[in-house]
Amino acid sequence: MKILCVLYDDPKDGMPGSYALNELPKIDTYPDGMTLPNPKAIDFNPGELLGCVSGELGLRKFLEDRGHTLVVTSDKDGENSQADKELVDADIVISQPFWPYYLTREKMEKAPKLKMAITAGIGSDHVDLQAAMDHKIDVVEVTYCNSISVSEHIVMMILSLVRDYHNQHAIAKSGGWNIADAVKRSYDVEGMHIGTVAAGRIGLAALRRMQPFDVHLHYHDRHRLPESVEQELNLSFHETVESMVAVCDVVTINCPLHPETENLFDETMINKMKKGAYIVNTARGKICNKEAIAAALESGQLSGYAGDVWFPQPAPNDHIWRTMPHHGMTPHTSGTSLTAQARYAAGTREILECFFDNQAIRDEYLIVQNGELAGVGAHSYSKGSATSGSEEAAEYKK
Ligand code: NAD
Repeated sequence: MKILCVLYDDPKDGMPGSYALNELPKIDTYPDGMTLPNPKAIDFNPGELLGCVSGELGLRKFLEDRGHTLVVTSDKDGENSQADKELVDADIVISQPFWPYYLTREKMEKAPKLKMAITAGIGSDHVDLQAAMDHKIDVVEVTYCNSISVSEHIVMMILSLVRDYHNQHAIAKSGGWNIADAVKRSYDVEGMHIGTVAAGRIGLAALRRMQPFDVHLHYHDRHRLPESVEQELNLSFHETVESMVAVCDVVTINCPLHPETENLFDETMINKMKKGAYIVNTARGKICNKEAIAAALESGQLSGYAGDVWFPQPAPNDHIWRTMPHHGMTPHTSGTSLTAQARYAAGTREILECFFDNQAIRDEYLIVQNGELAGVGAHSYSKGSATSGSEEAAEYKK
């Protein structure tokens, strides 16, 4: 079989000769008891770069030993991309949300042999899920592999926005010492109302991590959490997003991108938020209207916006979120720490082993199977597609 793997570029100066840490901490299971990825073997060193082209997700030896062909490229956007050329006779496509290969209906229709799209990570909105259902292409992801990684990034971003860390760091770095400038937008998080749109694996982990800051916690989700969890964390449940955002100082967005959530934070929703609130969005860029976010930061309706997700990706150089005021954006990194890479590389291999050996892929990994939403897909997504506009990714210039 032919496996096409679309990964982000290597570091500009080449692959690291050494790493900051010699080994990764050992983790036994995910917080809810789900087992970590368990492939029969791995051919990489956990803690090394795996998500870039030369890292190859540690898959080459495994695939070639079994007689398969692996093609790895980062060239994914615009006319005649390498990925598009290789897709036409590929059986399986692997892509990561950080550098998403937008698998639109049009592309799928040029790939008659395609059987499965694997997301090496979490969040499969870069695949036209409706087209995958229509063409009976299965879509799977490595559920939980980086949910905790993202929740840590959310905590970092809430604290850095509210305390105004980026501004203070810039002053220190540039040789300055004006304390008044450094603190004129700096507050404590203690006592604030913090709410999450969705309390799935990431949203709940973010709530748990914020609880020790002595804040008031809120959530909205289409699935209510068990009463025991609501009591343990003293959570206020909201039937609607609107009711939650009206009372929150900080809103973090943690639902997948699908037709129900696309453009959820538009001008109307942002105007229902408490004036001066902060948004941290590590879910997907397209859940927020980019112009409405920038305008709200200009007007003061929002005090800050941070996250690591953009639309499309890579974000065009003139994407307004690169230059709007009071933002703490990173490129899409929260789920691709070296720690997370080791888990999703192992999870990708587990999925491939199951597929080649005709064994069932874990239910938790399924998004689309046999033409229907399945597993996490049925729980967390809705039918339809969210890939429109992705061709703009070609506008990014290296
Ligand atoms: P999850 O499936 O555990 O949780 C998703 C939650 O969203 C579920 O509880 C579901 O009920 C809720 N939900 C879905 N649609 C909703 C709606 N319309 N209204 C209210 N709630 C809704 O997934 P997770 O591991 O928590 O990941 C969530 C998302 O975060 C992913 O789909 C992905 O888009 C994003 N993510 C980003 C990164 C990153 O690197 N930035 C990494 C992993 C995941």
